[in-house]
This record gives sequence, structure tokens and C-alpha cells, in this order.
Amino acid sequence: MDRRARPDTELDNPLLDLSGLPRFRDIRPEHVAPAVDYMLVRNRARIQALLAGDAEPTWDGFAQPMEDLDEALERVWAPVAHLNAVCDSPALREAYDACLPRLSAYATEVSQDPRVYRAYRAIRSGPEYPRLTLAQRRLLDNTLRDLRLAGAELGEADKARFKAIRKELATLASRFDRHLLDATQAWRLHLTDPAELAGLPESARARARARAEQEGLDGWLFTLEGPSYLDFITYSARRPLRRRIYEAYVTRASDQGPHAGRWDNGPVMGRILALRREMARLLGYPHYAEYSMATKMAGSSDEVLEFLRELAERARPAARQELAELEDYARAEDGLERLEAWDIPYYSERLREQRYRYAQEAVRAYFPEPVVLRGLFELVRRLYGVEVREAGPAQVWHPDVRLYEIRDRDGALRGRFYLDLYARRHKRGGAWMDECIGRKRTAEGVQVPVAFLTCNVSPPVGDAPALLTHDEVVTLFHEFGHGLHHMLTRVDHVGVAGINGVAWDAVELPSQFMENWCWEPEVLGFLSGHVETGAPLPGDLLDKMRSARNFQAGMQMLRQIEFALFDMLLHRDPAADGPGRIQAVLDRVREEVAVVRPPAFNRFQHGFAHIFSGGYAAGYYSYKWAEVLSADAFSRFEEEGLFNPRVGRDFLVHILEAGGTREPAELFRAFRGRPPRIDALLRHSGLAA
Ligand code: ZN
Repeated sequence: MDRRARPDTELDNPLLDLSGLPRFRDIRPEHVAPAVDYMLVRNRARIQALLAGDAEPTWDGFAQPMEDLDEALERVWAPVAHLNAVCDSPALREAYDACLPRLSAYATEVSQDPRVYRAYRAIRSGPEYPRLTLAQRRLLDNTLRDLRLAGAELGEADKARFKAIRKELATLASRFDRHLLDATQAWRLHLTDPAELAGLPESARARARARAEQEGLDGWLFTLEGPSYLDFITYSARRPLRRRIYEAYVTRASDQGPHAGRWDNGPVMGRILALRREMARLLGYPHYAEYSMATKMAGSSDEVLEFLRELAERARPAARQELAELEDYARAEDGLERLEAWDIPYYSERLREQRYRYAQEAVRAYFPEPVVLRGLFELVRRLYGVEVREAGPAQVWHPDVRLYEIRDRDGALRGRFYLDLYARRHKRGGAWMDECIGRKRTAEGVQVPVAFLTCNVSPPVGDAPALLTHDEVVTLFHEFGHGLHHMLTRVDHVGVAGINGVAWDAVELPSQFMENWCWEPEVLGFLSGHVETGAPLPGDLLDKMRSARNFQAGMQMLRQIEFALFDMLLHRDPAADGPGRIQAVLDRVREEVAVVRPPAFNRFQHGFAHIFSGGYAAGYYSYKWAEVLSADAFSRFEEEGLFNPRVGRDFLVHILEAGGTREPAELFRAFRGRPPRIDALLRHSGLAA
């Protein structure tokens, strides 16, 4: 097949040049739609050709070309999606938005073509299957699974119903989000008396002042948007005002609070749950929770419940003690008789500051960007024997962006990545890793994987290097962990190489695993160096940071477990289709695990977008699940030596190189020698008995 998807027409479009790295300097918004349209026409025609004829479908005759078509389309789209995130402009956004429906229509069309499903099925049950490679078999199994979950096996009537359900669910998800957004924007706290700002730090006041100015108001404006709400609830010393903003926040889109009934998500949530249940049953699952498990590492929803309950059990004693401490503190400081939900963030922050006072700015001086990058590359050299260095010139989308390459000890190129570190205008916030090119084997050899690594740290000022906060260092390591998973893979099929085909609840293992190294004194010896003196981060400062990290670890853990248990039990409930029943499930969960009982008007669930409009339905537990895996994996390094080359090799071979070719539970066992245990996470969180 052709590596160069350049058409025979005179169309000269840099997006269609797949001969190497994307030509970022040449790509213009006006190239986007023609390139995508060209690929869609081409793919459709080739798929029709593949499906024509009576020959028995084979891997080389059908599955491989299908994968290649898919991959080529993704390669054309990857730089577009990336530029849309890091170089936003009205023209690019318009081009990007115009293509989204075309791409999703194409994907739906292919996945719902019964001939496509039949062809994959034929290969699966044909004589060739046992002779296929592990990656090929896995890819085939995953494809069939996903098609089945998309309704491919249903009869005509059920298929129509399934389609209708999916359509209604999409509408309901966006209604849920719109209600939440409208409710969030409808309420505000406008303060004009400086005395009402008591407790708020200068930075929070400045943000509230700027917000007021934006609206042409005097004084200070607080809203229910995350950062503004957190500013106020964390720092305001005015208890009645804290209560007011708390009540407005936790009753958004519900039957309670200042806008009771106005954008009530109650009926929307009930309908979503009923439809999900119906959809799961159409596919033969007892409930939506089990449908969700079909693509997860966890074996069943029972196993997840057991896991969450065990964690809760182990975290509860610490959480109780932390709460008692906080109550004592609030009583001693302000004579508070009863610690309410709207008091907890405020007193927690004061207690935390009092106990672990250290200046973020002082820490930052120990993490100049060149030292951090050198340290990160040194770490992976020690662990996996790979060398990272800056690559030769390449086309980039901004002068700050650098291209790096990763080579084996014997010099073989394993992967490349673009590093885009600094915050700037027209760049989306946050940090992430994305795929630019995936690994595969072609007639000409191996296509080397390429990643996009994006962060948003403050850019350097003048000649001084950028200084990172410790949080930013941890974030960089996290994303680099995803990047290593993508780049060090040895799998020859894009669909199961690197992070592809890895279960949702296991995909954060390599990334969270990397975070651990940022807390190790031995690593900080070469990962930090004071910007003026070059001295590494002092041990007592690190100790303080480590204690601060685990402040109220028990309460935090229980809160996450409360959400995860609620999510799982709700999606197992045979009759949750109204607000009353949903509340009852939540009340039972709180009774079972929570140490903090919110007031009766609390309607947290009406804003729980993760599970009602995001991708986390019956999957919220994944956060904790992956944390257990990453902590337990790291603990083997703790036991056998942080830089023990055998352990590093095992992690490389069993986790990073294997991609999605095997069940994550199997890979984990191969690395750890046993199934995962929760002990390491508890110990790292300071919760071990
Ligand atoms: Zn991640």
C-alpha cells in the first residue's frame, strides 16, 4: 500500500503529504476541508472495492487495508486537531468544526455497514485466524467487540431502536451540559464592601476585581465557575457568604437552591439512566455497568465494588481522624460548634498553611527548565537505556516548539516528540500527550511513532530560564509517561500499538507511574538545581512537600470513592429513572462510606458531568484503579532498587512496549509477578496502618 497518499490530481495539499513529519509551516486553514474530503472520498471508494467480489475475506485482503485506510485518515487529521488546540484562529476553527460532522458520519457509516461486520467475522472464524500474530488477533477481536457494542449483531428492529437510543442519549447529554452551564452562569456574588473580602488573598481579589470590571461593575465579582468558586470557598472568612455560595454551587441544575427547578437536570438524568439500561439489555447485558466493563480491565462490576469498598475500609480510620482534627482546629480557632460542608475547604486550607508553610516561589527556583528536562531524560536513560536528544531541524508551528528523538543504546530510532512547553495566547490550557504518527510495520520497514507533548508553564522572562513549579514538573512527567507508552511500543499495528487498544481503566498506568519519580530524593538529586547556585532541592523542603501532598489523604480518598461507588451502583440499579431514586442511591452510598455528610439540599449529582455527559459512566472508578496499578508497579522499584536495570527492563518490555496486545491484567502480572494490590497506594498516601 502507498505510504504517500498524495492524489494523482494536481491538488497540492501539504496535509496529504504523508511521506514524513507534518509540514506545519505549509499547512493553512484552507487546506483542511479539501484534504479531509479527499480522504473520505478515497476511503469510501476503497472500502466499496474491498467489499465487492465473492472472495473469502482475509487479513491481507481486508483487515490490513481497512487498518491502513483508517490510519491514513488519522494521520491527515492529527496535525489539524493539534493545530486547532495550540494555534487557534477563527479560520482554522471554522475549518475544523466543518469537518467534524463529516468525519463522524463516515465513522458511523463504516461501523454500521453489515458487510464490514460480516467480513471481520469471517476472518475471525476462518482457517487463517490461529496463524495471525498476537497483535493481529487482538486487533480483530477488539474491532469485532466494538462493532458488537455498537449494535452490529442486532436484528433490524433492535438496530433501529438502538440507533434511536444513541441519538436521544446524545441530545440528553448536551441538554445536561447546557442546563449546568446556564445554571452556573445565572448566579453570582457581587461584593462592594472590602470588609466582605476578609480572608481572600491578593491574587483572588485581583481575579474577582478583573471579573467585575469585565462586566462593567465596581467592586468584586465571584461566580460559580470552578476557579472563582474555589477562591471563595477556600479563603473567605465570612461564614454566611460561604454558605450562600456553597448552596448556589451544589444546587446547580436542580430542584433546590436559588434557582430551584429552573434548569433541573433531574428528569434528564432519569431518562439517561433508563435509556442506558435499555441499550445494555438490547446487547444482552443485565445493566449498563456490565456493558461498561466489556471494554475495561476490571473483570466485572462486582469486582469494582469490592475494590472500592476495600479501599474505603482502609481509608476510613484516617479520614475520621482528619475530620476530628479539623473540627478541633475550627473550634479552637473560631469557636465553631459544628463544622458544616461550607466550612471544610476554608479550615482545611488554614490548617494546611499553618502546618506546611513553604513558599511555592522558593521551590520553583530549584526547577529551571533545562535542569528538569536533562533530569527527565537522565531518568529514562537509567531506567530503559534510551537516549533522548534534540533532533535536527523540523517544521514546527511556533518558534518555542522543539523536536526530540529517542534512540536505543545501539542508536536505533525508537520515537520522536514535539515538546511545546509554554503557555501563550491561542493555545488551549492544560497538558496532554497526543499521537502524531503511530507505529506500524510496512513493506519499507517500521514507521517510527511521533508524539505531541503539550504543557502550559510560564514562559521564560528575558535571558533567565523558565522556572517550573513542582506541580508542573509532575505534570510534565505524567504526560511524558503517556508519550513513552506511545513511542517505545514494539507493536507493528497502529490499532494496538502504544496507548491504542489499552483498556480505559489501565491507560493511566504508565503516566501516573512516572509521577512517583518526582518525589524521590535520589531522583531530585539530578532533577533539581537552584537557578543561581545549582544546589539540589534541600531534603527538609522535600519532606514538607511530601507531607503536604498527603494532607487529608483519607478524606480525599473517601470522596473519590463516594463518587465512584455512586456511579457504579447507579448504573446497576434496575429502576433508577427518577431524581428520587437517584438521590436514594447516593444517600445509601454516603451512609456506607462518607465521613462528611453534606446538607439535605446538596444536589451534587445534578452537576456530575463526568458520568452523565462525559465518558465516565460506570467508569469513574478508573481514576483509583489506575492509581493502584501505578503505585503497585512503582513499589517493585522501591523493593528491588530504584535504578535496578532488570526492573526497568521488565517495565519496558511488559508495560511500555506491549501496548494493547494483551489484557492489561496479564501484562501487569507479567511485570509484577502477581495481581495488583492496594497496599502501595495506601502507603504512598500515608494511609497504611
Ligand atoms: Zn493522563
